Amino acid sequence: MTHSTLNMQCKSCGGTLKLDKERNVIVCPYCGAEELIVESDEKIKQQTKLLEWEREDKEKQEIEHKNYKNSKSGKVSLVFAIICSVLFAGSINQISGLPTALRTVTFFIQAALFLMSYLTRKEIIDLSGYIRLKAIKLPTLFMAAGFILFIAIAAFSTL
Ligand SMILES: [Zn+2]
Repeated sequence: MTHSTLNMQCKSCGGTLKLDKERNVIVCPYCGAEELIVESDEKIKQQTKLLEWEREDKEKQEIEHKNYKNSKSGKVSLVFAIICSVLFAGSINQISGLPTALRTVTFFIQAALFLMSYLTRKEIIDLSGYIRLKAIKLPTLFMAAGFILFIAIAAFSTL
């Protein structure tokens, strides 16, 4: 049964009325008064519509949020976190001079960035309290930074 609280008071007891969508009635949970939603009652109709919009909006947001959380980008960042970890592990034994040292450090940073991208997207780590970004999502930013560093890696190999 779906009951939504209305911003309306009961005529007999003053209690906050609720909407019973299935039976198309407005009910008072305090005194039991019931009122049928009649077509002519614009106020009730508006509220009913508003509640429906709110519910649809909420559902839409939940779907969008779920899609975002489970998007392929999460898997991509996890795969790149693993790739960069392997590259880091392989590179650490080959350090000889600055370019190889820089490359090793960069692989490590990349692995961390891709891992952070995955963890923030899956909401395992929540940084929203520390970093406030509205236009760009944090996981996207972490992933972009991880990819940009491949340019740095390419640059180091020319040193
Ligand atoms: Zn009442």
